[in-house]
Amino acid sequence: MNAFSFYNPVKLIFGKDQISKLKVELSPYGKKVLVVYGGGSIKKNGLYDQVMVELKEAGMEIFELAGVEPNPRLATAKRGADICKKEGIDVILAVGGGSVIDCTKLIAAAAKYDGNPWDFVTRKAIPQEALPFGTILTLAATGSEMNSGSVITNEETLEKYGWGNPLVYPKFSILDPVNTFTVPLDQTVYGIVDMMSHMFEQYYNNATNTPVQDEMIEGTLRSVIEVGPKLINDLTNYEYRETILFAGTIGLNGFLQMGYNGDWASHNLEHAISAVYDIPHGGGLAIVFPRWMRHNVKVNPQRFAKLATKVFKVNPEGKSVEEVAYEGIDRLEEFWNSLNAPSTLADYNIDDSKIDLMVEKAMVYGEYGNFHKLNAEDTKTILTACL
Ligand code: NAP
Ligand code: FE
Repeated sequence: MNAFSFYNPVKLIFGKDQISKLKVELSPYGKKVLVVYGGGSIKKNGLYDQVMVELKEAGMEIFELAGVEPNPRLATAKRGADICKKEGIDVILAVGGGSVIDCTKLIAAAAKYDGNPWDFVTRKAIPQEALPFGTILTLAATGSEMNSGSVITNEETLEKYGWGNPLVYPKFSILDPVNTFTVPLDQTVYGIVDMMSHMFEQYYNNATNTPVQDEMIEGTLRSVIEVGPKLINDLTNYEYRETILFAGTIGLNGFLQMGYNGDWASHNLEHAISAVYDIPHGGGLAIVFPRWMRHNVKVNPQRFAKLATKVFKVNPEGKSVEEVAYEGIDRLEEFWNSLNAPSTLADYNIDDSKIDLMVEKAMVYGEYGNFHKLNAEDTKTILTACL
């Protein structure tokens, strides 16, 4: 194992009707709350009304930032920070999926900063202070509800990058599977692809002697693979939603990464694609990840073969390690195809005309990937295979 420190201060509140804890959790931070949400799903499914009842009962003074877009934009975070500064907001409440939570993280830090919040994303500045915030998660996917990472799109420069800081861990996150019942089929699938991708990113690392960690990831992946297909045929099944919601949170709250140093190249590649084309993150990953895998099998065929046998139940008898490894990737593609996830960039009408621009975006911090470093040529090869 690699040496590691594990720290996660997020209070995770999980289960049916747990919104009843909201008042108690928010109250210590003050009276003026900014509620941040997306394009309106919470108004349609009634969650907005429930949140308002709780906040009013708590005697909070309520301000709102609506319309956070999927792939949240810098301009929106700036608007949120302006409200915080102007109104003297004490605490923020994010109600939504990863995009709403990621945007809230930047708002929380930007509210205490006089410069351009993009400085945090580009590492030009490091937050010294941030407003406290809690979340009510509505979509199982990113793990943002229990980590300190955030992904922001600069719509002017067509850049999309992740940043993070311990100051932007949520103080608490309320996860009620019922709040995910209305997530449409396509977003449910993107969420499953995203959480599986987080597990793959962590699984592909160069640490040795990680039997416990490996089992944790393999077991979580097997649960997602078992429940995912049932869920997409029964979107309001409490137990299926519950399993997937928990898997998404465990998938990226640091727990599965202990002792590893995950790869994260596929996320970098996907961010380059969705910066240029604004496609859903999970959709992009469904296209990128199998290509990244094929490109890297030779780096450590045993690792891929282990995933194939332990997660995709490939029978290794009479096969070479590489054959087993490739069969595992085939099974992954078959699995995502069975969920109707996109499988090529053509599914989003993306052709090769902007490949060089995407390569440039992916390479902005130089070679990337911890399992195996990718250069511009690797990047172009993988993107071309995605077409
Ligand atoms: P999302 O972008 O937050 O939401 C996608 C769509 O789902 C939105 O249109 C949203 O509608 C809708 N939606 C959400 N909850 C719903 C519900 N309960 N019922 C009906 N519709 C619902 O999706 P996401 O996958 O959670 O987040 C994706 C973003 O997170 C990307 O920018 C990605 O790069 C980033 N990301 C972050 C991390 C991290 O660790 N921070 C990790 C991976 C990815 P409304 O807008 O109307 O609510
Ligand atoms: Fe992701």
